[in-house]
Amino acid sequence: MPQPAPASRAIPPEPYISVIIPVFNEEENLQELGERLVRTLTGLGRAFEIIFVDDGSTDRSWEILTELCHPSGQRYPEHVQIRALQFHRNFGQHQAIFAGFQAARGQVMVTLDADLQNPPEEIPKLVAKLEEGYDTVGGWRENRQDSWFRKLPSFSINYLMSKVTGVKLRDYGCMLRAYRREVVDSINQCQESSSFIPALANLYARRVAEIPVGHAERQRGQSKYSLFKLIRLNFDLMTGFSNLPIHMVGLMGITIALLGLLFGLFLFIRRLFVGPEVGGVFTLFAILFVFVGLNTLALALVGAYVGRIYKEVRQRPRFVIRQTLGADEGKVCVGGGPGS
Ligand code: UDP
Ligand code: MG
Repeated sequence: MPQPAPASRAIPPEPYISVIIPVFNEEENLQELGERLVRTLTGLGRAFEIIFVDDGSTDRSWEILTELCHPSGQRYPEHVQIRALQFHRNFGQHQAIFAGFQAARGQVMVTLDADLQNPPEEIPKLVAKLEEGYDTVGGWRENRQDSWFRKLPSFSINYLMSKVTGVKLRDYGCMLRAYRREVVDSINQCQESSSFIPALANLYARRVAEIPVGHAERQRGQSKYSLFKLIRLNFDLMTGFSNLPIHMVGLMGITIALLGLLFGLFLFIRRLFVGPEVGGVFTLFAILFVFVGLNTLALALVGAYVGRIYKEVRQRPRFVIRQTLGADEGKVCVGGGPGS
């Protein structure tokens, strides 16, 4: 019986969903992640692409991603579009997502971690919610499987972000999120070099929703966030998204100055009625030290803002892409600034 002629490779459809995954030394998780993603997204019945952004991994992650993009055997059906970008070095999780956003072609963008802590099976729920008319949908890790040591900095991030962006969310740290193309286009216009994507999205989204999603313990590999990195992230967020800290310090300064003035007045009146007293000099020294401490604190905060201005003015490239697989194959991009 004659065999049907093999169909010529069709032009892959324009993706409706782009899934963006930052990867930093996740060699043990990528294979399973790829399989689960393809299964889930195929089940959705919409054209999709998966974009892995290797954030300067030093393990075998890139080799595994290469195999996923160019399988030696015919592994996935033709509708499956897997792409990968490789950073020149480690630029950070959020920069990796920025790069993915710039490369993505879908109308709906979904981000998730590569470590399987965010189950890919939750993506259809996020997309369905987005299609109800929301601009971004965040996952909220109802049963978060992380240590207290890891959860504590997240509490402060949630509190800070809810206050400074004015959008109260339970879980800013969960990267299992869906965004509409328009929101991502606005995010892509942001030139700043240190940022936090869920907070940035809230600046541009009109309707924001949050739905509970599952969360698994990290099975393989280690968290890439040290305590130092988390503290830096908190500090970055505070100075990056609001002038509130500097206002608080200003308010504190005024209050303490007023109290100092009242205390000085009290000492003066006391001196008029009771007479000079040696202990009073020490009290004034104590007040002086309070002021010196306050000045230093204020100076440090002003310095932090000046530092940020300096960073932005320099307009350094946020990342350097070394290689691209899949669509845009071979394209090398130095810069990665929006619109570049
Ligand atoms: N990640 C990254 N660059 C980094 C740190 C992390 O691309 O510098 C990726 C990491 O591979 C994972 C995701 O960001 O896919 C979240 O990282 P991790 O699981 O270590 O963070 P945690 O779950 O502890 O918040
Ligand atoms: Mg994790």
